[in-house]
This record gives sequence, C-alpha cells and structure tokens, in this order.
Amino acid sequence: MTAQKRGRSAHKKSYAWRKKGYKSPVLQAKTQGFRPQQWLQNHGFPYMIIDILAVISFTDKLLKTSSEKVTIPYEVIHSNILLFRIQELEEKFNKKLISMDQLFKAANMLKTSHQPLAVNILEKYGIQPDHLVKGVFCPECGAVLMRWANKTWHCVKCHCYSKDAHLAAINDYILLYGNQMTNKQAREFLKEESRHVLKRLMKKAGFTIIGYKKGSIYQLKMRY
Ligand SMILES: [Zn+2]
Repeated sequence: MTAQKRGRSAHKKSYAWRKKGYKSPVLQAKTQGFRPQQWLQNHGFPYMIIDILAVISFTDKLLKTSSEKVTIPYEVIHSNILLFRIQELEEKFNKKLISMDQLFKAANMLKTSHQPLAVNILEKYGIQPDHLVKGVFCPECGAVLMRWANKTWHCVKCHCYSKDAHLAAINDYILLYGNQMTNKQAREFLKEESRHVLKRLMKKAGFTIIGYKKGSIYQLKMRY
C-alpha cells in the first residue's frame, strides 16, 4: 500500500509525488493487537476482542494500493475519520467485560511489566569475549582503526576524524554487557590506553559515576 503526498501546485509536482510504501499495515496492526490480547489473558483477564485500525495521521496523503485490483482495507483510514470509527466500535462492542477497577489494574500491570529485554547476547550465541572486535569504529569507512589524538578520533584508514565516535562503541557495550562500566573496562573495550582520556570522554558524555577512585563505575546510557 502506498501513501502519496498531494501536490499544492503544478510547479512543485516533482517533489509532490514522492511515494512512501507501507507493507501490510493491517497485518502489522493485527500483530500489535494480538500481543496485548495474549498478555491480558496470561495475566488472568478475560478474553477480549481487540479491534484494529491503521490510521494515517497526515490527511494530505493520498491512500493508494500497489495495484488497481487491490482495494484499500476497511481498517485503513485517515485520522480525520477516526472519531467516527470509534463511535462505530462503541456501538458494535457495547457489552462491558471488565470493570473500571480491573482496567486500572491492567494498565498498572502493563506499566510495571514494561521493562527492557535483558538478554545475555554472548551467552545466547555462545560468543567468547575474546572473539569480539574491540575498538572505536570509523563512522565513515567502518574500519576499527580510530586513534585518539589531539582531543579527536582519527581514522588510520580513511583519515576522517570524529569527536564522538566512541559513543557508538559504548552503545555496543551496553547491548553486550549492560549499562555499567569501569574505567578499565572502557579502556579495554575502546582500545584507548589512557585512563585520563577515558575519564574525560565519560564525563563529557554525561555518564553518572558511582563509587570512588579505582572502584568507580560509570552508569551508561545509550547516546547517539
Ligand atoms: Zn575511516
């Protein structure tokens, strides 16, 4: 299915007819409805039908299918008719299945269950830490050959430079090991020997320090 942006005037036509495709928005919405439905049942709530709608928020986008033989599904709508569809649904599903108290309980349970997925990737895929390619990758050519000099990362291969190429490496570290890192671990993972350089980089990135001196640990956050 595609959504085309309508042209405002003829001379803008070349820009106006850029298409953006969406693969099976109905299927995507159905999957998103199926998961909470299962979750609620697994947590002791009664079976409830979750009806779905795929809403295109920009009303100036023209809905069009990839072929004339394919019709636009009833579930795919523009946001300006959402209110009327909700009214239709209220008429269709007029039987109360759970109380307001249960609904609040479900909402609170969903909120507390919303936790990042903690997976030990190395263990899951049987990877030895020694097999990881460490160091700071060049954002331009992808080589793991960046060296820190004059307060900047320099790529030995393509000679580009970056002030914050280490952030991507730290993001990788978080995904592999979690969000805590010592200065020693940072030096090993980023392949930069200077304790002081690492201290400065971590401070500049705004990571909180827990502990004191050699026992201090950085509380990491994903940075882009
Ligand atoms: Zn490079």
